[in-house]
Amino acid sequence: MRDWLSQRVAASPDDAALVRAEDGEAWTYTDLDRLVSETAGRLVAQGVEAGDRLGVLTPPYVGTVGLVHAAMRIGATFVPLGQELTPRELSERIERAELSALVCAEPTEDDALAAVDGIGDTPVFSVDDPADPTVTAVHDAEPSPVDPPEWERDDHLCVLFTSGTTGEPKPVPLTAGNVYSSAVASAFRLGVDPGDRWLVSLSLHHMGGLAPVYRSALYGTTLVLRGGFDPGGTADDIDTYDVTGVSLVPTMLKRMLDSRGTLSDTLRVVLLGGAPASDELLERCRDYSVPVYPTYGMTESASQIATATPRQTRDRIGTVGRPLFGTEVTVVDEDGTPVEAGESGEIVVDGPTVTPGYLERRPEGGGEASPELDRSSFGPHGLHTGDVGRVDEDGYLFVLNRLDDRIITGGENVEPGEVADVLREFPAIEEVAVVGLDDETWGERVAALLAVEDPAEAALDEAALASFTRERLTGFKLPKTVALADELPRTVSGTVDREAVREALRDRGH
Ligand code: ATP
Ligand code: MG
Repeated sequence: MRDWLSQRVAASPDDAALVRAEDGEAWTYTDLDRLVSETAGRLVAQGVEAGDRLGVLTPPYVGTVGLVHAAMRIGATFVPLGQELTPRELSERIERAELSALVCAEPTEDDALAAVDGIGDTPVFSVDDPADPTVTAVHDAEPSPVDPPEWERDDHLCVLFTSGTTGEPKPVPLTAGNVYSSAVASAFRLGVDPGDRWLVSLSLHHMGGLAPVYRSALYGTTLVLRGGFDPGGTADDIDTYDVTGVSLVPTMLKRMLDSRGTLSDTLRVVLLGGAPASDELLERCRDYSVPVYPTYGMTESASQIATATPRQTRDRIGTVGRPLFGTEVTVVDEDGTPVEAGESGEIVVDGPTVTPGYLERRPEGGGEASPELDRSSFGPHGLHTGDVGRVDEDGYLFVLNRLDDRIITGGENVEPGEVADVLREFPAIEEVAVVGLDDETWGERVAALLAVEDPAEAALDEAALASFTRERLTGFKLPKTVALADELPRTVSGTVDREAVREALRDRGH
């Protein structure tokens, strides 16, 4: 296949491709195509060629969208890197992904130069001014003619790093086929329409921000590009540009609702991903008719594996819906055997959106990394995600927790998410975190921190709670330590800080 922007500009040259939220400046597909061919030409003049891995360390500017398409036009693999990385982390990633070249912009130029110092000969190109894409020019280069190659489905379109929640971030190649299948399947579930205006305020180095960029070229939708997130500004942009779709992580939506109460009714799709959405947030969406689509996905699956519609969210709060068209979800036990519907186990995913494997590490002491991909996390049913969940009788997926968070007490496995689901149903309890605490007798014991309106009042009837949980959970799953709080401790990214929960329970539990 040809690069997607070339196909798009042939089909709808005058449609709006991009709007820059900061000042409202707009680019048609023809304008974007011109920018991309100039950028591609300059990169080729600097020696970038088909098959290269092109690192990109620029903020989410119009020029960065241009670089996404320019890489595809040259036949190079796009490798976006995070602005927040330190020079040490950057050089690790440059090595790990074996970049052929790195494009950077002003704010991070010094870091980029420091990062490549001493690790071979990765050239660094500075973009003059990525805020002004008409000069998205690699220094001084006269554009060379570009001969766009044919892309095969298995060619690596991009390499993204996982978030590093459970260890070192892993480099994940996604093929043109993976990203294409993901765009088609998500467009089908979300009902994407060429008239859609999709606001991007997530960074482009994770699939949440990058997927809409590829999808918009395939479907001819308009991207509204915002340099970064802030609750009021993002909500304003939705109003100003009649935005119809937006991807957010749950904390962003919570902050926007806190600042606005509700969101513009032009919005048709509010896609939530990256982390679990709390029941409280989903209930607010229901009360304020926010069209929320909770999703479950990961870098390795080129974003969404399953997505729930607003109606499904209302009817089965907490579900992330059914798998997308073409993707398969199997829940397996410790031996890798599929479990019965309703039972929990590790989520294993397969289908055309799933990466062919992780990039191999270069051998100690130098030399080339193996061109083979690391498939050690794959089994007969697909990629083992390290997440625990269950699929109900009707095929709806619920994500409980990470495998790492599993509690082993007296030799029995307890999924904290399952215990939390039960506790959350008890009146007066607003939020719940369930963790394992070290225990001399049991190895670990189940412990729960309960967020209630006013912990000092302690309106919670503990005897009633104990019998409520005893009716619903087997003995070894019952929390042996319980404490109250007015809210759960959270990390800066808004996820529950499980270590702080353990601290609180050690100090205050009984
Ligand atoms: P690493 O793989 O390096 O440990 P990571 O898994 O956090 O990091 P990502 O690929 O960015 O890196 O995140 C995917 C993970 O996010 C999923 O495996 C899952 O644990 C979590 N996640 C995504 N969506 C949801 C959801 N709806 N509910 C619960 N967890 C979710
Ligand atoms: Mg992961």
